[in-house]
Amino acid sequence: MAKPKVFVFAPADPTGNAHKMLEDAGCELILGKANWDTPQGNNEDEMAKMATGCDALMGTSIRSSPITQKILQASKNLRIVAKFTIGVDDVDVDAATEMGILVTHGPTESNWGGVAEGTITNMLTLLKKTRERDRFLKTTSGWRDMKLQGTFVGHREEDGYPGITLGIIGLGRIGSRVAKLMRPWGMKMIGYDPYVPDSKFQQFGVERAKDLSTLLKQSDVVTLHVVLTKETRHMINAETLAMMKKTAILVNTSRGYCVDEKALIDALQNNQIAGAALDVFENEPIAADSPFRKMDDRVLISPHMVSSNYGSGLKTGLLWGTQSVIAALKGEVSPYVYNTEVIDQWKSRFGGKSIL
Ligand code: NAD
Repeated sequence: MAKPKVFVFAPADPTGNAHKMLEDAGCELILGKANWDTPQGNNEDEMAKMATGCDALMGTSIRSSPITQKILQASKNLRIVAKFTIGVDDVDVDAATEMGILVTHGPTESNWGGVAEGTITNMLTLLKKTRERDRFLKTTSGWRDMKLQGTFVGHREEDGYPGITLGIIGLGRIGSRVAKLMRPWGMKMIGYDPYVPDSKFQQFGVERAKDLSTLLKQSDVVTLHVVLTKETRHMINAETLAMMKKTAILVNTSRGYCVDEKALIDALQNNQIAGAALDVFENEPIAADSPFRKMDDRVLISPHMVSSNYGSGLKTGLLWGTQSVIAALKGEVSPYVYNTEVIDQWKSRFGGKSIL
C-alpha cells in the first residue's frame, strides 16, 4: 500500500517532532515553504500542485495564500485540513464541508488566553492614557496635566460611581476569558452572542444585551470576539459605529474584516467615537501609508501579535494538528474538529478506514 501523503502547507515545527510523528506513523511528507505563513504573494497554483493526491493537509496560519476550493479539489482522497492555530478563516471551510473534508484547529489556551490578556491591556492602555503620560514626561519638562486624566473603570461603593460598561461581542473562549478577568474590576459587563445560552452569560457575570444595537448604545468599551463569518464580516460599519457613544472606544482583536475599516477611519477622523485599539486589519500587514499609522494616541495599533507571548507558541497546536491528521488517516475523528456538521458525512466516507 502506498504511503499516505501529507502536505504541510506552512510548516512551523522547529523541533521536527511533529514531522517525525507522521513519518513514524508511515506518512510521506510534502513540505511547503516555511515563509508561506508570513504575508506575501499568493501561492495557490503551486500549493494545488503540491496537494495533488494528498490525504491530509496541515499547517499554521496562511492568510495570504488561503486553502481554497482549488487546493481542496486537488485530491479526491483528501480527508482533513488540520490547522495549528485557532483561526480557520484562511481555509474555505464551506467548500471543505461540502466536500466532506474535516477541518480541525488548535484552540490552545496560550493563544486564546493571550488574546484575552492583550485585549485588556490595550483597553486599559487607552482608558488610562498610559502612553500619553509617559510621553509627556519624556518629551516635556512638565508635570501633571489634567488632559492626562484617565477613566475610572469599576463601580465604587463609597460614592456610588457606577463604573463604565464593557460590551463584549462574542462570548466564546476569548470573550468569556475577558469577562472572567475583568469581573473583579467591577465594570458593568453586557454581551451579545446569539449562539450561547443564558447560563454562560450568568457564569461569567455578563448581562445579555437584547440585541447588538442595545450593546452598542450602552457600552463605553466595545470589544469584538466573534469568529469571522459571512454574518460577522463588517458587523462594525458606518451604521453600527453611529450607534456607539461619542465617548466610547472600540477594541478589535478578532479579525480585521469584522470591522469596515474605511467606516472606522471616518468615524475616528470625525470624532464620532473616542478611540480604537486594533490588533487585526482587513489587509495585513497594513500599508506603509495606512491612515492608522498616522493617527494620534486615540488609536492604538499592534501587528496582529496580541497572542504572541514568551512561553506560548504553537507547541500544543502542533501536537493537536498532528494527532488530528493521524486520527483521520486511521479513519477516526479527533476532538479538534471545527466544522462538526461534516462529521457524519465524513464517517460514511472514511470512518474506520485506516490507510496507515
Ligand atoms: P470562539 O469560537 O470560542 O468564540 C466566538 C464566539 O463568537 C462564539 O461564542 C460565537 O457564538 C460568537 N458569534 C458568532 N457569530 C456571532 C454573531 N453574529 N454575533 C455575536 N456573536 C457571534 O472563538 P475564540 O477562540 O474566542 O476567537 C474569537 C476571535 O478571535 C476569532 O475571530 C479568532 O479568529 C480571533 N483570534 C485572534 C487572534 C489574534 O492573534 N488577534 C488569536 C486567536 C483568535
